[in-house]
Amino acid sequence: MLKGKVALVTGSTSGIGLAIARGMAAQGADICINGFGDAAAIEKERSGIESDFGVKCIYDGADLSKGPDAEAMIANTIKTLGSVDVLVNNAGIQFVSPIEDFPPEKWDQIIAINLSSAFHTTRAAFANMKAKKWGRVINTASAHALVASPFKSAYVSAKHGIAGLTKTVALEGATFGITANAICPGYVWTPLVEKQIPDTMAARGLTREQVINDVLLDAQPTKQFVTVEEIASLAVYLAGDMAKSITGSVISIDGGWTAE
Ligand code: NAD
Repeated sequence: MLKGKVALVTGSTSGIGLAIARGMAAQGADICINGFGDAAAIEKERSGIESDFGVKCIYDGADLSKGPDAEAMIANTIKTLGSVDVLVNNAGIQFVSPIEDFPPEKWDQIIAINLSSAFHTTRAAFANMKAKKWGRVINTASAHALVASPFKSAYVSAKHGIAGLTKTVALEGATFGITANAICPGYVWTPLVEKQIPDTMAARGLTREQVINDVLLDAQPTKQFVTVEEIASLAVYLAGDMAKSITGSVISIDGGWTAE
């Protein structure tokens, strides 16, 4: 389905991004993965994508808190793989704290990685997509693009922002065969969720089990975590030609969370 296309997935050394990168590769796309982590583990993921799916896969270690790094990653991918046809802006971090104690540098970092990086990558990739009259921008937003939770001021603000960016990019790309959509997962069991448990325990004075059952899964009527494979499958669908009329959409995949 994506043979001859190049997909760049930010924050794909782990969690949702890695599943999306593998999902795109399974459809025949060449891939650029990005993110932090142990060099040997990243190389294993990169070479695994090549050998499992018979596609090319490069790694770019751009630090997406820095605009120039994000731009350079797009240029590097176009130079090495020929294009960026599917851009998945997925990199993200979380920080949990009451607003009066929220460190301003954490606010800046979350806005930079979770929101501004998608502006920088889209800006850099858009001319190439327009010239080809085909493109897909898929932003990993969150249920927190639609509703808030306490103690996540920066994250909720960044995710609401990405919904606005998605709609704007959709309008600008509409006559060029470019779609832009935001995927809004509920809680997915990944390192990002696991890492926020201790802070949520501290912020709310709860045990680990209480955080999992009474805070995280409490939000989801299904009482189950969403899986990374489910998110990847939606992203792959949005990348395909059958999704060409879906644009500017903010799509929930949250076990019913935002229906309440
Ligand atoms: P994760 O921690 O497993 O993965 C985050 C990825 O982003 C990693 O590859 C990490 O190296 C990368 N990253 C972090 N800082 C970076 C930087 N400065 N530059 C480049 N890469 C950087 O988390 P995840 O749960 O897979 O999250 C992926 C996306 O999904 C995020 O945008 C997150 O907000 C969103 N999301 C996650 C959940 C969830 O429950 N896990 C729910 C809704 C939305």
